[in-house]
Amino acid sequence: MPTAIKVESLSKTFGSGKTEFKALQDVSFEIKEGESVAIVGKSGSGKSTLMHQLALLDSATSGKLYIGKELSTGMKARELDLLRNQTFGFVFQQFFLNGNDSVLNNVVLPLKVAGMGRRERNAKALEALKAVELDDKINNRAADLSGGQKQRACIARAIINNPSIIFADEPTGNLDSATGDKVADLLFKLNKDQKITLIIVTHDPDLAKRCKRQLKIKDGKLVEDK
Ligand code: ADP
Ligand code: MG
Repeated sequence: MPTAIKVESLSKTFGSGKTEFKALQDVSFEIKEGESVAIVGKSGSGKSTLMHQLALLDSATSGKLYIGKELSTGMKARELDLLRNQTFGFVFQQFFLNGNDSVLNNVVLPLKVAGMGRRERNAKALEALKAVELDDKINNRAADLSGGQKQRACIARAIINNPSIIFADEPTGNLDSATGDKVADLLFKLNKDQKITLIIVTHDPDLAKRCKRQLKIKDGKLVEDK
């Protein structure tokens, strides 16, 4: 399978001098297209820092990062924005929905940003909302949805650009276990049916086990890859 993401000796240091903190140290691995990968480790181990690197949300102190065949290290901000918007979908623990806005408006946002016309983006939003079985809530205020429905709306927003990779940071962290299982089912269905590469940051061992591969981070280092 072709490469989805590859890192070579990736390091990230926060602060300098007395407050210097090495959050990632010499991390190297390759993820192939269509894989499902859990990034696991204790709180504070560097999981989110690593995900932010992989997802082009933050820049490394040293090392190389490839998205597919492209070396992203050294790219300009605008190129990074484009690559990120075209390639990735995001699902976070805290949902990040605009509660006062409708489900539809929340879900179309990435397409609006990309400059797509209203009719086309609304049609795509309906399709994405159908995929997460939320098309009956299209005109509801996002704030009025249940937790599980909110996360499904986030997943609809994440898939609207046909991403090749979905990054999920503790996607079930704010949900009860039954609802969390359903949200996870949906992510793994996208992985299986649409071959979307899935990279999930989690400290939930059950969710991690559902991924084909687990990368364990400890004190900013990759200590296990199984
Ligand atoms: P995890 O997601 O595994 O809980 P993080 O990646 O969020 O851990 O954080 C790893 C370590 O890096 C923590 O000790 C955290 O305090 C530190 N850290 C994260 N972001 C910053 C930052 N912007 N500035 C300074 N330290 C940070
Ligand atoms: Mg974290």
